[in-house]
Amino acid sequence: MTDDPKGDDPKGDDPKGDHPEDDGPNWRPQTLAAQAMGWTDETTGAIIPPIHPATTYLRDADNAYRRGRMYARADNPTYDHASDLLTALEEGADTLLFASGMAAATAVFLALDPGDHVVVPKVMYWALRAWLHDSARRWGLDVEGVASDDLAGLAAAMRPGQTKLVWLETPANPLWTVSDIAAAAQLAHAAGAHLAVDSTVATPVFTRPLSLGADLVMHSATKYLNGHSDVVAGTLTTARQDALWGRIRQVLVQQGGILGAFEAWLLQRGMRSLFVRVEAAAASALALAHRLAAHPRVAQVLYPGLPDFAGHQLAARQMRGGFGGMLSIRVKGGEAAAVATAAKVRLWKRATSLGGVESLIEHRASVEGAGSPVPVDLLRLSVGLEALEDLYADLDQALRAAG
Ligand code: PLP
Repeated sequence: MTDDPKGDDPKGDDPKGDHPEDDGPNWRPQTLAAQAMGWTDETTGAIIPPIHPATTYLRDADNAYRRGRMYARADNPTYDHASDLLTALEEGADTLLFASGMAAATAVFLALDPGDHVVVPKVMYWALRAWLHDSARRWGLDVEGVASDDLAGLAAAMRPGQTKLVWLETPANPLWTVSDIAAAAQLAHAAGAHLAVDSTVATPVFTRPLSLGADLVMHSATKYLNGHSDVVAGTLTTARQDALWGRIRQVLVQQGGILGAFEAWLLQRGMRSLFVRVEAAAASALALAHRLAAHPRVAQVLYPGLPDFAGHQLAARQMRGGFGGMLSIRVKGGEAAAVATAAKVRLWKRATSLGGVESLIEHRASVEGAGSPVPVDLLRLSVGLEALEDLYADLDQALRAAG
């Protein structure tokens, strides 16, 4: 990464000379993550990267910036570790870190032109849906919501030459709707549009959207990538360095929604254990989904890993090795019973967010408010790393106490 605070993306020398992956062994993704790409410090021998708090960088005597960095609104060497690792895990060409998932997601839309047509899911992460239908529309984007798991509907929404972006979230909050990335990429590309995928819930452990044809992949790194509920961060990874990527970079650098150095450092630390955390959470989520489906107080379990879930076949094809750590339950007895169940838990934490080591439970309709498409009897569960039996026992007693 080379950087100009104007966001013009000039070329310079790569200052990162100590990444053995350049000519090293062809390590598997879990190995790359555990070792943060195998980085060691050439000067000190340290095996853990430092934090760089510097806001500015020396110019050479002839006024050039041969070391490639000018000012910290554009770049920081602390970013490289999380950014390079995510580029490798997502099999992309470059990654940018943002101050939040929302900053990353909105940067993609802000890189388009007023009047551009964008196709987005009707049911998706609620704050982005709200921003798209309010701020993005006021800014001039022509925002169209579709059922993104309905390919015929998606195809009908495309306006060749005018549609510039298709946005998917898969599995999508909080019904865990699974959308077909490869098919959506074909439809988007045939119309001359980019496809961007919010892959926060799937993580690169289970899905690589770029390898399926997507152009951009976004994460709320606040969730699984960091994994410890102590950093707010967002990422975008691109399949190629094209004009849209240049404009996205400009939005980041000019608007300044950058990640702090300490947060970037915490993020690379969290990502080292990504695979074991995500795989353990997904194994517990699958076991809980099966047990809760048979629970007398549960009307329905929504989880892509259940064979009777609408998107199961697609998920089994598209998600490699697991279905993620998120599920929702619909509680018998409606809204009151759902809210009462959340009130009775002792181990699960009643809190928003997902992807941390501690399990969270949330009545989503209360959070999303008026206009939410979420059923009022739905509780969203983010499965953490506690013992499966403790997680089930706590939900069981809460469901029975609320019934
Ligand atoms: N995308 C998804 C799927 C999310 O769950 C969230 C946050 O909950 C976001 C995007 C926004 O991320 P952040 O809270 O880091 O801004």
